[in-house]
Amino acid sequence: MNNPDWLTIDAGGLPRYVPRRFEDSQLVNCGFSTRTGGVSKPPYHSLNLSLAVGDDRDDVLANRRLFASGLGVDAAAIVVPDQIHSNRVAIVTQSDAGSGAIDHCDAVPATDALITNTVGLPLALHFADCVGILFLDPVNSAIGAAHAGWRGTAANIVQVVIDAMKCEFGTYTANLLAAICPAIEGNCYEVGDDVAYHFEEMFSGDKSVLGRCENTKWRVDLKMANCVLLRRAGVREMNVALSRQCTSCRDDEFFSYRRDGVTGRMGGWISLKRM
Ligand SMILES: [Zn+2]
Repeated sequence: MNNPDWLTIDAGGLPRYVPRRFEDSQLVNCGFSTRTGGVSKPPYHSLNLSLAVGDDRDDVLANRRLFASGLGVDAAAIVVPDQIHSNRVAIVTQSDAGSGAIDHCDAVPATDALITNTVGLPLALHFADCVGILFLDPVNSAIGAAHAGWRGTAANIVQVVIDAMKCEFGTYTANLLAAICPAIEGNCYEVGDDVAYHFEEMFSGDKSVLGRCENTKWRVDLKMANCVLLRRAGVREMNVALSRQCTSCRDDEFFSYRRDGVTGRMGGWISLKRM
């Protein structure tokens, strides 16, 4: 990968992608995992980080400890939402530490984004094709993470997160850093008229987001759509790190729901560093 906005960090055979500006800030431990370096068996091989996809629980917990230790966060403290493709954002604090960490039953209910300014509280969202978006307000030391599939994108979860960060932490969008993690790209993501309709409404004429396939289908690029939504919300283009990695194209590196159906999930985790 040759993208100056993203670093590859390899901690003991466990590679992760890290947005450079986030790393340079020295304010956060964060990263987007790959599928390699874990203990899960097929079809979850090997670093599946989700307890919600039918994998062996002990394997997932072992994988989470591995990824957490590479990141320098506490696996027992992670806050995990029960992702349902909504645009609901939850503000989490120390009392939420460990929600969904050991058992998915006590995950933050029906939520697709988390924000916090609590130091040492890792936000842990999970992905296989959907877009992970990480947020850092370096001025107010606040963070966020969002899960945007087509429904969350069409419901503009990015704007909901930014509004919540403004309201809770006094975030100015001019200072906000955002990172769009590896996810499925437009050439691999065909949709029908029902889905295309929403994107036509929101992004009419923007060919980077919505285009026709050779057949009767459409292609939607969810990463580009969220890029546009970040810009519309007032985030500066220079403050957005866009990954060009496609999860569907790289079965050696990423899980892909579109490609594989039953499969694992990568983690987009972020935590404010203890100083
Ligand atoms: Zn692809």
